[in-house]
Amino acid sequence: MEKIRARCEENGDCLLWPGAITTRGPVVTLNQKQIQLRRVVWEDAHQKPFPPDRVASVDCGHINCLAGAHIIARTRAQLVARTNRMHASAGRNAKIANGKRRASKLSEEAAEEIRTSGLSAQEMSEKHSITKAYVYMIRAGHFRRNYSSPFAGLGAR
Ligand SMILES: [Zn+2]
Repeated sequence: MEKIRARCEENGDCLLWPGAITTRGPVVTLNQKQIQLRRVVWEDAHQKPFPPDRVASVDCGHINCLAGAHIIARTRAQLVARTNRMHASAGRNAKIANGKRRASKLSEEAAEEIRTSGLSAQEMSEKHSITKAYVYMIRAGHFRRNYSSPFAGLGAR
C-alpha cells in the first residue's frame, strides 16, 4: 500500500496512478499476474476481501484514481445503470451542442465581414458557404432575425 500511495500523485481528494491503466482501472503486473489496484486499495480501506461478485469502480470520474474513499464495490447491475446514465447525458449534451452550432453557423464576425466587405455577394457566399440570397439578407440588416428561414416573415410586412 505504501508503495502504491508513494507512486500516486495527489490531486485534490484524488490519488492519481501514473502507471498502467485498463478498463478496470490502475494495474500492476507482479509475477506475470495482473493485479487490480482498486481492489487492493479497497481491501486496505475496508479491511476485508473484495467481494468477488462486485466491480471496483470510482466515484470521482478519474479512471486512474486510487483514493480509498473514491473506490466503490459496485454490482454489475449498478455499473451498467451508471454507464447507461452517463451515455444518456453524453447524448443529450451532444444534441444541445449540435443545436447551438447550427444556430450560430455564421459567426458575428463573419456577418460583420459580409456587411462591411467590398467583396461581391458571390465571393462572400462561396467564402462562408451560404447562399447569395443570405448574403443580401445580411447586408440588408436581416441577419439572425429570420435565420432559420431567411424568407419567413417577409410576407408579414
Ligand atoms: Zn478520486
